[in-house]
Amino acid sequence: MKVYDVIVIGFGGVGSAALYHAAKKGFSALGIDQFGPAHNKGSSHGQTRIIRKAYFEHPYYVPLAEEAFQRWDELNNRHRTRPDIKPLLEQTGVLQIGQPESEVIVGVQKSADEHDLKLERFSPDQIQQRLPILKVQPNHVGLFEPEAGFLRVEHCVAAHLAQARKRGAELRSDTRVLSWSATDEGVTVETDGETYHGRRLAICAGAWSKHLLAEVDVQLSVIAKQQNWYQIDRVEQKLVNDFPIVFIEEDDGEQFYCLPELDSLGMKVCRHTGGHQIETADLLDCDVDKDELLLNEAFMDRSFHHSRHRLVHHSTCMYTMSHDGHFIVDKHPNHSNVAFAAGLSGHGFKFTPVLGHRLIEMLDGNHDSNLDFLSLKRFR
Ligand SMILES: Cc1cc2nc3c(=O)[nH]c(=O)nc-3n(C[C@H](O)[C@H](O)[C@H](O)COP(=O)(O)OP(=O)(O)OC[C@H]3O[C@@H](n4cnc5c(N)ncnc54)[C@H](O)[C@@H]3O)c2cc1C
Repeated sequence: MKVYDVIVIGFGGVGSAALYHAAKKGFSALGIDQFGPAHNKGSSHGQTRIIRKAYFEHPYYVPLAEEAFQRWDELNNRHRTRPDIKPLLEQTGVLQIGQPESEVIVGVQKSADEHDLKLERFSPDQIQQRLPILKVQPNHVGLFEPEAGFLRVEHCVAAHLAQARKRGAELRSDTRVLSWSATDEGVTVETDGETYHGRRLAICAGAWSKHLLAEVDVQLSVIAKQQNWYQIDRVEQKLVNDFPIVFIEEDDGEQFYCLPELDSLGMKVCRHTGGHQIETADLLDCDVDKDELLLNEAFMDRSFHHSRHRLVHHSTCMYTMSHDGHFIVDKHPNHSNVAFAAGLSGHGFKFTPVLGHRLIEMLDGNHDSNLDFLSLKRFR
């Protein structure tokens, strides 16, 4: 009977990174996923993910974001063996816009002040000059973080998996974990085909976490989110790679973001707030949500000087929301050889190399107090 040092359930964003770090540490590692590598049925797909350090959600995330940049850079150096391979991370800058007292503007400035991060502050006129396509509200300001940018999300997952495999990790695709159990001696994972044995278990199941973490008393809700790509006509400034990422908080608290056009799909425009809750991830409906589309396009009409936009592509994805919008990363309360990352709440991808690394360190008995704010303790 083969006994792996670590079994990882789910090899999406976090699981692919956990496998890489397990294998890099010299552990024999097995990853199990109900779908294939870098698939489009969970939460880690849709061309791009924003990465930024001046974190409006909480300044505690800033050291993790700084480490994430280094870890993505390290992975990129291993992955990008030829110049024609696109980089995993591109630093286009992120311009965050809103009223001076909005959640985003206050939060970004606070994180930047506490951690001495580089930021430029723009008046409405300065934003308008810089990005003539935007219809800038006179009561809004902009905070530009020049070192922020985007990650090529599927390439990142695939790169972690390729590097994990290179170091001996085994992957089982199209294999659904039905249940797991743990004793002090080890863990057993039952799938729809076979039973696997390991010394330690990392649960990285994204929107399916609730089922696998049934014993852990945390609330997780799954929200369906639509990603949309548009061709935009007659823009005053061509939306190409020098267009930064723009994140706007409107006066009613709605938040939208736009990523530059990278290929024929066009510009990606999404609503960060809203979406509709679904009972379980298995019930995700991937058809266009027409109500969401109307809201998205009304935002574009309010925010861009353009004559016409045409939806070229859409993709549905899931946010797994914790009760307070912060991740839950901890050891299982009943089993010291089981750890998990769940409830990434729609902003976790940038941190996946850090979370994957810490899950493996936790399982190896190493504690990092920088992650205490994400532990289960806060719910007790
Ligand atoms: C539209 C959208 C936009 C986002 N934008 C950003 C952004 O700009 N920046 C950012 O940092 N984050 C962003 N996020 C959030 C980020 O993408 C997610 O937090 C992150 O990708 C979640 O990774 P995960 O590993 O938890 O989940 P996933 O990547 O979904 O991985 C979970 C895996 O577990 C597998 N699995 C689950 N249950 C089982 C089982 N029983 N058996 C076998 N396999 C199983 C699944 O198949 C899946 O592959 C966004 C998310 C969405 C949906």
